[in-house]
Amino acid sequence: MQTQVLTLSPEEAKAVEARYRIVRRSVDARQRQLKVILTVLTDDEGNKIEHDAPVPLYTPPVYQDVHRSGRSVSIIGAGPAGLFAALTLLEHGIRPIIYERGKDVSARKRDIALLNRNEGLNPESNYCFGEGGAGTFSDGKLFSRSKKRGNMQRVMEIFHHFGAPDSILYETHAHIGSDKLPGIIRRMRECILSHGGEIHFGTKITSLNQITNHQPLITNAPIILAIGHSAHDTYRMLASEGVALASKGCAMGVRVEHPQSLINKWMYHMGEQSDLLQYVGNASYSLVTQVMDRGVYSFCMCPGGHIVPAGSGDEVCVVNGMSASLRNSPYANSGIVVTIPPFATAMEGLDFQEQLEHIAWEQVRIAGGNAAQAPAQRLKDFVEGRASQDLPACSYLPGIVPSRLDRWLPEQIGPYLQQGFRDFDRKYPGYLTNDAVIVGVESRSSSPIRIVRDAETMQSISHPGLYPCGEGAGYAGGITSSALDGIQAALRIVNQ
Ligand SMILES: Cc1cc2nc3c(=O)[nH]c(=O)nc-3n(C[C@H](O)[C@H](O)[C@H](O)COP(=O)(O)OP(=O)(O)OC[C@H]3O[C@@H](n4cnc5c(N)ncnc54)[C@H](O)[C@@H]3O)c2cc1C
Repeated sequence: MQTQVLTLSPEEAKAVEARYRIVRRSVDARQRQLKVILTVLTDDEGNKIEHDAPVPLYTPPVYQDVHRSGRSVSIIGAGPAGLFAALTLLEHGIRPIIYERGKDVSARKRDIALLNRNEGLNPESNYCFGEGGAGTFSDGKLFSRSKKRGNMQRVMEIFHHFGAPDSILYETHAHIGSDKLPGIIRRMRECILSHGGEIHFGTKITSLNQITNHQPLITNAPIILAIGHSAHDTYRMLASEGVALASKGCAMGVRVEHPQSLINKWMYHMGEQSDLLQYVGNASYSLVTQVMDRGVYSFCMCPGGHIVPAGSGDEVCVVNGMSASLRNSPYANSGIVVTIPPFATAMEGLDFQEQLEHIAWEQVRIAGGNAAQAPAQRLKDFVEGRASQDLPACSYLPGIVPSRLDRWLPEQIGPYLQQGFRDFDRKYPGYLTNDAVIVGVESRSSSPIRIVRDAETMQSISHPGLYPCGEGAGYAGGITSSALDGIQAALRIVNQ
């Protein structure tokens, strides 16, 4: 098979995509005239391959029956790292036994609905904890900046195998959406269980030797530690058990939300009602600037999305973003974060993150808000240092309250954000508008901690047999790279 690259108008691209097999699609919005770049699959004579041609999209994974397997591996955490590790073990005939503190994805959905209605947070079942991990109720963006981690396309194929749309196989900036992800995660679970793996929900590991219902972990089996970066209690448990941890740089800031129509105008030069918008999808942006010694950049931009309450404990306020597959809300939100250099110790980083989240929670109370409401300020007011008399409409369901983020954000963050927003306005004049609002705090873009592992074996340098992986280990960030890290950890065990 060969490929052919075509640069087309959106109308032409839509027609080609409807008929032929595409292996890559990207949108080029750099010129006034929007272009779509399609890579089309052809035969050796250059004829384009139609959708119904008998050419497989990819080699599907083959999972073995492991009911009677002599080898098993315990996995702590059912996020992308844990689930992809489990599926990889199944491919190689090894029985995965997963322990997940949260609930299955359907029960978790109900807890999230309560949280969105501002009716209480379940500390074990929320946007961070539960089946599918932090990636389940997210934008489901599936790209990773790092190409070195492994076979990213294989991660897309596995998502597709479990029900993700065809587009994730070829879109440069593929995404799934929070309406589709739960079904995919459920099918992964059904596959793991039907082939002989185990999944124990509501099972928080409180010691490496014990699970909460006091059944011992299978002590001579390897343990894949895929806890994500929100399980502060588990980090503290690891520290108390002498697991080697190190401080690492991270980034924290706020979420900014603009009307999506503004972003479409900047990026696509397109009116709101354009039919083509349906084909190319609401526009996203990626911004970065340097303010003195620190980077300020956009993170996890969610076109047509919602800001969500992403805390997992009491008396903290944390926000993040998500969107449905159609990305069709009238709002565009993005984390805007400031790089924070490594703290003196791993625990200091965790403490700083917790303090910031607690301050944000306190500020909501000071402003007369409650529960999962979040502190907010109009963007221009924030940059110009004045109180917002009122706030614009915002996608954050539990509700926002006016607050002086310009006054209470720490000096390592606030002034850098103010200058960063001014810089972004130079790139996209009008970015700095009072129709935009910032909501605090975006404190979990990455972990301030690394669970130190050997570069070759991927085993903890203090605890051989323990394989820290995914975002919580500090070696990955995002769904795709965490999934790849989980696959790599499982392959190390397979090849032992
Ligand atoms: C709202 C939101 C939106 C996001 N959007 C995107 C996006 O669009 N694209 C993207 O790439 N990334 C996104 N992310 C980040 C992404 O979800 C994470 O990078 C990814 O899920 C990390 O995968 P992981 O498996 O390492 O950890 P996690 O997904 O965090 O999973 C860890 C799991 O371990 C469980 N666990 C923790 N401690 C214990 C314990 N002691 N015992 C048992 N179980 C435990 C947790 O309950 C959790 O289910 C988003 C995150 C959030 C919160």
